[in-house]
Amino acid sequence: MKTMTKAITALALSLGLFGIAQAAPPGKGGPFKGTSKVERISSMKPGERYVLVCTDCRSATVGEIASAEDAEKLCHNGGTIHCDGCKKDVTIKRVGPPGKQHAAGTEVKYLNSEGKECMLLIPLKE
Ligand SMILES: [Zn+2]
Repeated sequence: MKTMTKAITALALSLGLFGIAQAAPPGKGGPFKGTSKVERISSMKPGERYVLVCTDCRSATVGEIASAEDAEKLCHNGGTIHCDGCKKDVTIKRVGPPGKQHAAGTEVKYLNSEGKECMLLIPLKE
């Protein structure tokens, strides 16, 4: 039952996020600014869970890190994540100071085919 509880927690979390998204004023660079940090994602350990929220299809997917490479893949600059809801690949883009793509505080953005930010990855804390 532990898995189920976590999935529900994740869902509640993502629904809360949509609430924040709707409350944010439009045209201010997106409601999710600064929420997905490279250092936080890449430091996830095998067995840790995360939620992938897609704002295009309003889905929330709970995933689990299977290996160290998994965490890196989720924030790999130029990589992709497939959204089952949209049936599309989302491009991963690191956004940080020029020439410092691995600097602390570098953000990860997930962009759809139109170049719009459409996904958010939230590591789940125990
Ligand atoms: Zn989607």
